[in-house]
Amino acid sequence: LFAGPCDFFYGAQQIGQLPDPMAPEVAFAGRSNVGKSSLINALTGRKSLARASSEPGRTKQLNFFDLDGRLVLVDMPGYGFAKAAKAVKEDWQGMMFDYLRGRPNLRRVILLLDARIETKASDRDVMDMFDKAAINFQVVLTKCDGVKPKAEEARYREVVAEVSRHPAAHPLVLRTSSETGLGIPELRAEIAAFAEP
Ligand code: GDP
Repeated sequence: LFAGPCDFFYGAQQIGQLPDPMAPEVAFAGRSNVGKSSLINALTGRKSLARASSEPGRTKQLNFFDLDGRLVLVDMPGYGFAKAAKAVKEDWQGMMFDYLRGRPNLRRVILLLDARIETKASDRDVMDMFDKAAINFQVVLTKCDGVKPKAEEARYREVVAEVSRHPAAHPLVLRTSSETGLGIPELRAEIAAFAEP
């Protein structure tokens, strides 16, 4: 699946502009700077498919990528910028909630958490939102290369415990690094399970 073509085909800035469902979808969510662009690039083997940018709130749209006509990857805007105005946050939540609730072909949301920093209130809010919308989500730890093994293990356990409190969460937490490639094959396999044959 990931060896075939992968093309950006749509950017949606409003919920009314979503493309018609054409294949099963897997969406990626996470705080700004969590390493989402890097991970999508690592998964697809592209250098700049998802524009890596740590610029606050740069990606304000839902970006759709077609994987060989068999699966669609959806890059959701990063959340959690402390400085974002309240209205912006509410906008984000409203649009995401509408997308998540109303997307019949959405199979899973991959929620990224940074292995190097603790889970933030905004991450918990998003997990609560997934529970409320009954959205199947799976947590993936990013940047595992950037933390010492002991601290990484502690962070992993903390996240597994957190995940077990969320009814909509998949119990398997994956540890990844876009730098070293750790966990990338495993995450590809999780995602590929949703693709059309
Ligand atoms: P996004 O805002 O979530 O799309 O995050 P980016 O992919 O732009 O990454 C944010 C920052 O984290 C950049 O400086 C990346 O180089 C860095 N980064 C991303 N993935 C990794 C990783 O696996 N390991 C390390 N050490 N740094 C990473």
